[in-house]
Amino acid sequence: MQASVHPVSKLPQVGTTIFTVMSKLAADCGAINLSQGFPDFQPEPALFDAVERAMWDGRNQYPPMSGLPELRAGIAAKVEALYGARYDADSEVTVTAGATQGLFTAIAAFVRSGDEVIVFEPVYDSYGPAVETVGGKLVRLSLSFPDYRIDWAAVRAAIGPHTRMIIVNSPHNPTGSLLSAADLRELAALTAGTDIIVLSDEVYEHIAFSPEGHQSVARLPELAARSLIVSSFGKTYHITGWKVGYVLAPAELTSEFRKVHQFNVFTVNTPAQAGIASYMQDASHHLGLADFYRAKRDFFRDAMAATKFELLPCHGTYFQLARYGRISSLGDRAFAEWLTREVGVAVIPVSAFYADGRDDGVVRFCFAKQEATLLSAVEHLRAL
Ligand code: PMP
Ligand code: GLN
Repeated sequence: MQASVHPVSKLPQVGTTIFTVMSKLAADCGAINLSQGFPDFQPEPALFDAVERAMWDGRNQYPPMSGLPELRAGIAAKVEALYGARYDADSEVTVTAGATQGLFTAIAAFVRSGDEVIVFEPVYDSYGPAVETVGGKLVRLSLSFPDYRIDWAAVRAAIGPHTRMIIVNSPHNPTGSLLSAADLRELAALTAGTDIIVLSDEVYEHIAFSPEGHQSVARLPELAARSLIVSSFGKTYHITGWKVGYVLAPAELTSEFRKVHQFNVFTVNTPAQAGIASYMQDASHHLGLADFYRAKRDFFRDAMAATKFELLPCHGTYFQLARYGRISSLGDRAFAEWLTREVGVAVIPVSAFYADGRDDGVVRFCFAKQEATLLSAVEHLRAL
């Protein structure tokens, strides 16, 4: 159909997200899809049973706007047990339609036209467009290469009177780097005495491999007091398609967050919430996740040692970065497309996470897959 109006795009630089592009190309070519991040195995049957039970129990209508009370209580208990932070289940925990909605709503609730938001590249692709949709201005800083750490002196220099928000992500997608306790102390020190809100994307909180483990901003009271923490059950329970997540924040921030949330999604899928709440009562699932994915990471890295890819360190998430300079001199997008079409393995080009297309010759593999899937992908890659 021909449109009769031609509005000026709010997001002129934005095309279709790289995850959709690469997963479609993988499907079109019949390639093994190690691009978009999702498991190719099933969650535990107990989770299905719990959701089914909820439906038969008649839990099929709107839940409370902020989420089912038993789910919010379960989240608050988990966070206190892990990070020692107390969030009030009624006024400081909100269930969202995945982390994506939590992030977008948090940005929409606090960022005004002209406000600056500091992000770190390579940056997860949903933050920038959310900021720009509400008229905010992105201040893009680079993580160091190839260890992907934050340069705190650069952050100090970038903070100004218009800085409204700093967005951090640990464990970090796409690089697998982690913020340390020292990083969090830097962030706390730099924001002390300011009105800056910290938006902390912690969706891979249970997939951190270092002995220090995941450093949640919830661990530092002075940081938690200015932060919204976003997480997602998609990563933790192998249910990325269910789109259930949550946002933690002090009551005053949560109250503003919910003003937008209620008109953004209003509520989140009731049987899924009820099922997750019941499944969560057995508190062991998330505790085994780091070991589960560490084994997959090590399996994948061992297998990849027989290829010409050069693997970067992976300290968390279910993503593995690799340089491909010994195989090809193509740019990373062209390389990812070629690999998908000609070799039968789909990956994500890391330049997609830089606004200026910076290309370090690095691609991202997702190893949240069955060993057979990983082995057959590596079988293809060994031929290169
Ligand atoms: N943040 C990061 C860093 C992610 O990797 C993802 C999803 N892969 C999300 C947010 C979105 O999570 P959800 O699917 O729960 O919306
Ligand atoms: N976050 C997932 C990834 O990094 C994908 C989610 C999405 O497709 N938006 O691959």
